[in-house]
Amino acid sequence: MNPQQALQKYFGYSAFRHAQEAIIQNILKGNDVMALMPTGGGKSLCYQLPAVLLNGLTIVISPLIALMKDQVDSLNVNGIPAAFLNSSLNPEDTRILVNRLRDNQIKLLYLAPERLFSAENKENKLIPFLKTLKVSQIAIDEAHCISSWGHDFRPEYLMLAGLKEEFPGVPVIALTATADKLTQRDILEKLNLKNPAVFVSSFNRANITYRVTPKKNSFKQLVDFLNEHKDESGIIYCLSRKSTEALAEDLKEEGFAAEAYHAGLSNEVKARNQEAFLRDDIKIIVATIAFGMGINKSNVRYVVHVDLPKNIEGYYQETGRAGRDGLPSEALLLYSPADGMKLQGFAKVEGNEQQSRIMLNKLNDMMRFCQLRSCRRQYLMKYFDEDFPAQCGSCDVCLTEYKRFDGTLIAQKALSAVARLNERFGINYVIDFLRGSKSEKIREEHKQLKTYGIGADISKAEWHHHINELIAMDYLKIGGDEYPVLKLTDQSMAVLKGGQKIEFIEVEKVEEVHHEETLP
Ligand code: ADP
Ligand code: ZN
Repeated sequence: MNPQQALQKYFGYSAFRHAQEAIIQNILKGNDVMALMPTGGGKSLCYQLPAVLLNGLTIVISPLIALMKDQVDSLNVNGIPAAFLNSSLNPEDTRILVNRLRDNQIKLLYLAPERLFSAENKENKLIPFLKTLKVSQIAIDEAHCISSWGHDFRPEYLMLAGLKEEFPGVPVIALTATADKLTQRDILEKLNLKNPAVFVSSFNRANITYRVTPKKNSFKQLVDFLNEHKDESGIIYCLSRKSTEALAEDLKEEGFAAEAYHAGLSNEVKARNQEAFLRDDIKIIVATIAFGMGINKSNVRYVVHVDLPKNIEGYYQETGRAGRDGLPSEALLLYSPADGMKLQGFAKVEGNEQQSRIMLNKLNDMMRFCQLRSCRRQYLMKYFDEDFPAQCGSCDVCLTEYKRFDGTLIAQKALSAVARLNERFGINYVIDFLRGSKSEKIREEHKQLKTYGIGADISKAEWHHHINELIAMDYLKIGGDEYPVLKLTDQSMAVLKGGQKIEFIEVEKVEEVHHEETLP
């Protein structure tokens, strides 16, 4: 049977999606693979189909026991023998499973990572046992959990570093829906993948409209939003466990069918609320980021963040839970700079300079996203190193008609300040320098420069906006190893030398207009 036939026979689909076929070919050839695909992109098929075709066992590492059961059930329904091994199995079930594995009757075995390597299981000799079987593929789901730089680090994933050694020559496929460049590199390194074929699918979720609104009276704003989305399912993310419960209660009082979900609730309550949401018994789940991984509910119509997410990866993954069915969906974020400052306080990890710096930089990127006055989708795509040259036509910035003005001179001032400061200073310093601040923080030699004070007529807040816009438009960028500094880009020269006109958006927006959706 070839992959195309297996796709039809076991999964009932007529065509592969995105990179699925190329990924599968690589696995069948015995190569290691890393696959990044957005949530709902079809990652499972990438190892399930080879598992059917390969002669032997596929081991699937997955962090969530709840999810394993669903996956195994649906595989069995499709006629693919699969099983999971976890603490819910009694000795008798385990014995039967072991026999079925020995008899080569199982194609996919799902395991939690701690199962594989914990001391207790060394005694159980799980790895030595698995080595007596013919293992033909190892799939690692949610592979970003191995990186402490990702946003969902799980220490037990670190143990997977030993897999390549224990099973030499067995192809490993690492799958994730969320990993920036840094995390990607970390995954490859930590898992010891050998010459991996790396596949990064487009992360654009064209059916999601991104909106950021200044947070004023968040409860009223939320209720207004929900009233426009009656009878639709949605997820509301809060920062703290306490506020999920309080907010769910308040929403219930307003007549909405909402329940809370966070890691501190008992397993029963969590399971009940999750089930009720999946079955549409309740429409709204008010949750911390503990909710969502592996939840496969296709008709989530909106995701609201009432508090600022800590980084773009988390935000993008959470908003990505909307619209998995491809129908138009909303992502709304209520932004207050005060939330940003609060998170800056949390980002400092005691005794780990490097980690703190990375987390702070990621938070800054998140805050910059909220303050954008250029296409939000373009910014998100750039964050994930994807080109998205046009305006999307379906984010709040694109949908809003702003008054624009010629900002060429302002841009020239900003860029020349960055150039004069040798691209070695951060945003705040550059702004103070532009405004001719008398502060001692500004070095004496800088006060002698001609550019010192050339932007005194513009307020600090406005400078922040302009510089953020210049970053978003790629006329400036953030760089630096130690701490974030402003740097020029390839496009900067065209502005500095004249010739390149820059348009800025007025602070006051004029009106929101609804364009046709114009996605390229
Ligand atoms: P992910 O794990 O990437 O979030 P899934 O593997 O759960 O996504 O797949 C999302 C949905 O897409 C599932 O319902 C799956 O059956 C479906 N799917 C996967 N591949 C295909 C395909 N080639 N054609 C049609 N549907 C597919
Ligand atoms: Zn846009």
